Amino acid sequence: MDALLSLRDISYAYHNLKGETPALSDISFDVSQGEFVAVVGPSGCGKSTLLSIIAGLLTPEEGELYYQGRRIADGEAGNIMKIGYMLQRDHLFEWRTIYHNVILGLELNHTLTPENLEYVMQLLRDYELYAFKDKKPSELSGGMRQRAALIRTMAIHPDLLLLDEPFSALDSQTRLNVSADIARLIRSTGKTAILITHDLSEAITLADRVLVLSKRPAKVVCEMPIRLTVDRHDPMTVRNTPEYQLFFNHLWEVLTNEQTATQSV
Ligand code: ADP
Ligand code: MG
Repeated sequence: MDALLSLRDISYAYHNLKGETPALSDISFDVSQGEFVAVVGPSGCGKSTLLSIIAGLLTPEEGELYYQGRRIADGEAGNIMKIGYMLQRDHLFEWRTIYHNVILGLELNHTLTPENLEYVMQLLRDYELYAFKDKKPSELSGGMRQRAALIRTMAIHPDLLLLDEPFSALDSQTRLNVSADIARLIRSTGKTAILITHDLSEAITLADRVLVLSKRPAKVVCEMPIRLTVDRHDPMTVRNTPEYQLFFNHLWEVLTNEQTATQSV
């Protein structure tokens, strides 16, 4: 088995006093080592739930997860793989400098070794934040803050990166460049990543493969490998290719059908 991560027939429902909210239904897909997968789907369909299941924060009611072909038992995800999580808000602490923010994960894991600290310094240099390491988060631009959040995530040497709409808080122009920048940095390390986004253009521009989820409870309704004839470096170049347009039109149709279905319920 080649897959780094496999999901097989995963189903999940939230239960509370008001009843049951089915969120995921029979979700199956594989993610290869080094692959960058984007997941799109209607708002509220279960995307964040899916990431929580992969991270082991929620236990699936049905189905199994495998890491490198080995079944992940309940509560075992954290022992088997190191997960790096990036969220919509960058969750940088204002009372800490950028340096003290990016070493937070190492501090919590008790892994502030000289090697890890040197790695963080290297990342600060690579991500052009070294000169800002003693600044407070509020002194940085949105893009710089996201790069700092990525360093904090990378510092723990994650096996798998889970990105839950990490660019949503940025304005659309900043977002285009920051997302391309962050994706390039992730690709350069060869890390495996799953990106949740509601922005179809972003998914096609950044990912090797796009999965489209249905309205809640989410099912995988479309899986599309994105093969481009141009370098992904410049998002505008990607968006001007004929193949981008074809991917976009097809996926747009799938998503629109899902959204219309949501409204008619
Ligand atoms: P998405 O990330 O796609 O917007 P979520 O995975 O956050 O969707 O949520 C899927 C559905 O589950 C939504 O209808 C949401 O209201 C519901 N939900 C999420 N978290 C809880 C919870 N803790 N308890 C009950 N329902 C929840
Ligand atoms: Mg969400």
